Amino acid sequence: MPRILVIGSANMDFTVAVPSLPKEGETVTGGTFYTSHGGKGANQAVAARRLRGEVRFVGCVGADPQGDEIAEQLGREDVSTDGLERTEEAATGVALIVVDAAGHNQIAVASGANQRLLPEVAERHVSSMAWAQVVLCQLEIPVPTVEWALAAARERGVTTILNPAPAQSLSDGLLALVDCLTPNAREAEVLTGTAVYTPEDATRAAQQLLGRGVKRVVVTLGREGALFCDGTSAMHYPAFPVEAVDTTGAGDAFNGALAMGLAAGGSYEQALPLANAAAALACTKRGAQTSLPTRAEVEAFLLKLKG
Ligand code: ADP
Repeated sequence: MPRILVIGSANMDFTVAVPSLPKEGETVTGGTFYTSHGGKGANQAVAARRLRGEVRFVGCVGADPQGDEIAEQLGREDVSTDGLERTEEAATGVALIVVDAAGHNQIAVASGANQRLLPEVAERHVSSMAWAQVVLCQLEIPVPTVEWALAAARERGVTTILNPAPAQSLSDGLLALVDCLTPNAREAEVLTGTAVYTPEDATRAAQQLLGRGVKRVVVTLGREGALFCDGTSAMHYPAFPVEAVDTTGAGDAFNGALAMGLAAGGSYEQALPLANAAAALACTKRGAQTSLPTRAEVEAFLLKLKG
């Protein structure tokens, strides 16, 4: 089985669905409450696992019921949690989400224990680096930990993918450790200072990032699909047509699937359509982890499109 190591965040999401979003100082009643599992790291780990990769997750949660719940959920998904650290010093990361009938939302995040995943903590799981074929990171844990992970993977010849989300600027030193950087349009804009709307804009942004040391860039462009650039070629992979009901989790499905496709030994030409297909399917269901498709669902979807 393809082997993927995800080093990143895990959160519990607490959502109240209300008729309309509260304004400052306002209380809106009549809501419906639900909890869900989130954090880009955990989501991407589950995305890769559902596509039948073997997945290890290195992260940090609190010594609290939410932390137990996250460990149990990853276990139910058959993601290895030997690398899931527990800290007494902070609560499990949470997101408080208010969403209205039209899908508009307000989100407040307390990253808590995720910020305790310092390099010296992640280093306890360095043996998983030699095990992995692909290491996948995001930016919801301390940046020095991401830099350590990318460097440790690079030293061992392991492919590195960085999904630079949420958007923030990054040093050239860190970018030079990335085999494949996967910003969405907004993140590409923050990284480069250039507005990104079209595949042409994305190519320009990608070229700038390649000039800063990244080996390959994949800019995700929502319903426009993804733009791949490696310095010698630029290639647009259009999105698959679906009736999108909720694009939450699309980026996580995309990154998990890309990691899976590359760990399986596929080329980018093979892995990117897989990533677009998994992400398109994630748009057809509500929620983040709940919307991530299985391998069978992706295969059936691709077969139907061919047929
Ligand atoms: P993020 O969800 O991280 O903001 P994007 O919006 O760029 O990232 O979406 C990630 C991927 O999800 C896209 O590259 C594409 O494959 C897929 N996707 C997003 N929106 C749609 C859509 N409306 N129809 C089909 N695929 C979509």
